[in-house]
Amino acid sequence: MDIKSEQEMLNFGREYASKIVRPVVIELVGDVGTGKTTFVRGLAEGLGVREPVTSPSFTISKSYALPEGGRLIHYDFYRLSEPGIMKDDLVDNMKDEKNILVVEWGESVAELLPKKHTKIEIEYTEDGRRIII
Ligand code: ADP
Ligand code: MG
Repeated sequence: MDIKSEQEMLNFGREYASKIVRPVVIELVGDVGTGKTTFVRGLAEGLGVREPVTSPSFTISKSYALPEGGRLIHYDFYRLSEPGIMKDDLVDNMKDEKNILVVEWGESVAELLPKKHTKIEIEYTEDGRRIII
């Protein structure tokens, strides 16, 4: 799929929200600046999250209450070579079937993610578009 602007990425996230069947873990793969966090902003909006979504790159995780219960939990492990106690946090949050987990830079926790999880890859094109795989 071809995403031509930030707005289209937000729309993609918003539409994706309606397709989610919980529990789900979504791994986002793509270089810095491809739009992973932008996707999560759209996703959160589509799920009915009212608070603004900001990047968890400094806090590692951010969590938002969902209107029907459960939480959207957004991780960014970019700065963590060794996830340490965040592993427990991730595993605990995966146990609640009402939660939706989204993980950026999940290599260091790859063995903890469910074998069957959703992987969304985002790639740059030369002319600034993004391609979703
Ligand atoms: P990541 O989380 O992958 O590092 P962000 O979502 O934080 O990326 O940032 C993506 C940046 O790229 C935003 O500033 C956004 O405005 C910009 N951008 C430009 N074109 C697109 C596009 N087609 N899709 C998504 N983001 C885009
Ligand atoms: Mg990001």
